[in-house]
Amino acid sequence: MDNIEKNIRHILQNIQIAEVKRSPKGECPVQLIAVTKNHGVAAVEAAAAAGLTIVGENRVQEATEKQAQASANVKWHLIGHLQTNKAKQAVKLFDLIQSVDSWHLAEALNKAALTCGKRQDILLQVNIANEATKFGLPAEETMDMAQRVAATLPGLRLCGLMTIAPFVEDAEMVRPYFKEMKRLFLALKELALPGTDFRWLSMGMTNDYQVAVEEGANLIRVGTGIFGPRSYGVQGGL
Ligand SMILES: *Cc1c(COP(=O)(O)O)cnc(C)c1O
Repeated sequence: MDNIEKNIRHILQNIQIAEVKRSPKGECPVQLIAVTKNHGVAAVEAAAAAGLTIVGENRVQEATEKQAQASANVKWHLIGHLQTNKAKQAVKLFDLIQSVDSWHLAEALNKAALTCGKRQDILLQVNIANEATKFGLPAEETMDMAQRVAATLPGLRLCGLMTIAPFVEDAEMVRPYFKEMKRLFLALKELALPGTDFRWLSMGMTNDYQVAVEEGANLIRVGTGIFGPRSYGVQGGL
């Protein structure tokens, strides 16, 4: 547990250093999300004790269990692919759903949100490198999707974009993808679509968050760098 606090401090320092290298400066300050998937509820408590206010989960079931046990006051973000039949549960669980990757899912979330009387904050997930193994909208469909969401789904509030860069040894290799995401983000922000609150550009994980911040990310999702490796199958070490 000591390590968790130390790891978080270290990452926050690196984020500060990366923020200085940004241009233009003075954008929305970076928020660090503790990705607690595959770790137990103690990970949530430890992240909160170290001052973090957002946790990221990738599965509805796991988040349900953890929310029932957690006493920390944190925001919950969904960062993993969501099946439409779990839209209702997801709307109840999550403050921000970052992984909206199809029109079909957006419609299901809209319906669920309207039923619950909630305006659901969402990000559109973009498959910026067109990887066959990843979810997300092709970059060239993102503008159109954003416009349709804003125009026709009043249960949703579009708050920005999310991406998962290709996994590479050298994070410099993915810098062009982050740049591309930033361009897309700014182009959409400029449209100032009614009913949207375009503020979050979620990109950067343990392996590449510094480069992501340099290129303008303001939501960073780190798991391994905070909690160590995940053990799959069992709900891990913590
Ligand atoms: C697991 C996960 C992360 C965290 O990955 P690490 O490499 O452990 O930091 C970030 N984003 C998404 C979407 C994830 O699924």
